[in-house]
Amino acid sequence: MNTALKPDQKAQARVLELRSLIDRANRQYYELDQPEITDAEYDALFRELVDLETQYPELITPDSPTQRVGGPPSDAFAKVTHRTPMLSLGNAFDRDEVREFDKRVRRAVGDVKVEYVTELKIDGLAMSLLYEDGRYKIGATRGDGYVGEDVTANVKTISSVPLSVTVPPEFPRAFEVRGEVYMPKRSFQRLNAELAAEGKPLFANPRNAAAGAVRQLDPRITARRRLDTFIYALDPPGGARSQEQILNRLAEMGFHVNTNRRTHPDIDAVIGFLDVWQEKRHELDYGIDGIVIKVNDLGQQAELGFVSRSPRWALAFKFPPEQAETIVDDIKVYVGRTGAITPVAWLTPVQIGGTTVSRATLHNEDEVARKDVRPGDHVIIQRAGDVIPEVVRVLTEKRSPSSRPWHMPKKCPECGTDLVREPGEAATRCINPTCPAQVLEHFRHFVGSLDIEGLGYATLQQLIDRKLVTDPADLYHLTKEQLLTLDGFADRSAQNLVDRIAASKSTTFLRFLSALAINHVGWTMAGLLADHFGTIDRLEAAGVDDLLAIGGVGPTVAEDVHEYFQRPESRRLIGRLLEAGIEIKQPERREGPLSGKTLVLTGTLSSLTRGEAEERIKALGGAVGSGVSKKTDYLVVGTDPGSKLEKAQRLKIPILDEAAFLALLKDDGMKASI
Ligand code: NAD
Repeated sequence: MNTALKPDQKAQARVLELRSLIDRANRQYYELDQPEITDAEYDALFRELVDLETQYPELITPDSPTQRVGGPPSDAFAKVTHRTPMLSLGNAFDRDEVREFDKRVRRAVGDVKVEYVTELKIDGLAMSLLYEDGRYKIGATRGDGYVGEDVTANVKTISSVPLSVTVPPEFPRAFEVRGEVYMPKRSFQRLNAELAAEGKPLFANPRNAAAGAVRQLDPRITARRRLDTFIYALDPPGGARSQEQILNRLAEMGFHVNTNRRTHPDIDAVIGFLDVWQEKRHELDYGIDGIVIKVNDLGQQAELGFVSRSPRWALAFKFPPEQAETIVDDIKVYVGRTGAITPVAWLTPVQIGGTTVSRATLHNEDEVARKDVRPGDHVIIQRAGDVIPEVVRVLTEKRSPSSRPWHMPKKCPECGTDLVREPGEAATRCINPTCPAQVLEHFRHFVGSLDIEGLGYATLQQLIDRKLVTDPADLYHLTKEQLLTLDGFADRSAQNLVDRIAASKSTTFLRFLSALAINHVGWTMAGLLADHFGTIDRLEAAGVDDLLAIGGVGPTVAEDVHEYFQRPESRRLIGRLLEAGIEIKQPERREGPLSGKTLVLTGTLSSLTRGEAEERIKALGGAVGSGVSKKTDYLVVGTDPGSKLEKAQRLKIPILDEAAFLALLKDDGMKASI
């Protein structure tokens, strides 16, 4: 007997409305990679629809979003029919729902002991990788779960996808692995910064950014977006009897498997894992939006089976959204060291994920216009991937009728100079080189590059205000007596600062170059230029073509660097710095086991900056190469490695992970100093 209530008309109308809202959101999200609503809002709509359909089962139709997965594959790609459907996961938003899941599971398997494996829920997109005779054959997106997009060439550019693997003897000729392709936080931030600079819309989250990068028609674009993978499924399981064994086997085969996984004897232990990762999630260099809980035993998994769009043996616990509603009290602009003006929303302070947020970046004029953020607006803000919080969208329904769009000021708020926005540029700039805000940022950058400790904003501001310094070279002429006239200095602290400033005179070319704050020359670019030219004289003499000849230097950088050294004020500053006693050390070359060896670095190391790693190698007599070739002796691989890894694998160059690299430095350091 059907005990369900007869649907009232209100429920029916709401179901239709929810379906159309969710269909639209799905299109924006899966097909265009540009969601218009937040995941939390989407999840709330979806939940409401599931609840209504549970209450009124006769309203369920096969085309309801609750019965489907993802979105249709794009016609821009060839289609791949999945061997078995790629499903979604059931969701839980609190711990009670996790316990309910455990009860359902245990009921279904006859109340026996159930072990669970927990894995981080990577904020990426699901990918199927097909191998034949141990070689990578096809890469496909999930699509609508049955048919996905053929992105074989694009996925091939991801260095952690092995192109060939050692296949255990009991394996069939063809097997499939599934996992997540994701964009590490640093790559995501860099991509959004680039898009902001180009005045293009930004990606809302790392998952959409990864999807956008994979669903490209040109694999070279995918390669540049620096994606990575975590693999979690193997079909057939090849003798494995549990999810734990599958994960271990995948790792042995050479796939990237997340190490933050655990097998638990019961659901209490699972909940402990959720608590830990909800706190620790920000420590990771990739985004996670929850924890996936899987029944460990494959026999029990088979017994549990599937419902329409997800397996019964797995559950996605979703972390609460790190978003909040607040009010934009004001929009103010900041002047950066290059004169770029950044609009920033001053917010009524609000708690997000345990932190109080009172500012959100609005990136540039176009971004403010696109989101139409106005002072007085109610807005949703979020902390995406630990970057500076940003405004997701305006709650226009709460907007006061008297509100007016915000416009970029015409004059610099610090020095009153007319602001300039060049055609084709996203940034509005203050072009007055003596603008006090720029000067302060400039000093901060200089002090940071030369690693002068104890010279913070407050001290610099006082030094500038009292005209004790006008350019960084003046720092080297400061006396203890002058510092004693500033707030917060006593005899000892003034002397310490004078000593630290003096100590910074002995520096490397890399640090010196970075300190000059040449447009588009950050730490990495400075490293490249320093390695190539070796001395400031040679770099000063370089023409645009000489610069362009260096791998990794494009026309914008080449022109900016060349132009910088043509400007009389740059030459004057460099001259004054050298006169003040700055001495550029050539990195020491000691005899040791690293002499004669060339090491190439890729990715980020957790314990050393790129500059420090290079200095350590050079100090031990080694050379640092910019690209992998047959002459490379080792490739040092950090997280988020680039295409160098694949090349090194191809050329069979020995690869060192961070631990092996540190061990090498330590060993060589010891031998070198004996
Ligand atoms: P899901 O993201 O909730 O969970 C399923 C997916 O998790 C899998 O397909 C897989 O890709 C991924 N996953 C990550 N780590 C995994 C692991 N270790 N093991 C197994 N799977 C793992 O479900 P979905 O169907 O992919 O997407 C629905 C979600 O997407 C919604 O809940 C919402 O957050 C988001 N969404 C948002 C909008 C929007 O407009 N904002 C629109 C559509 C979907």
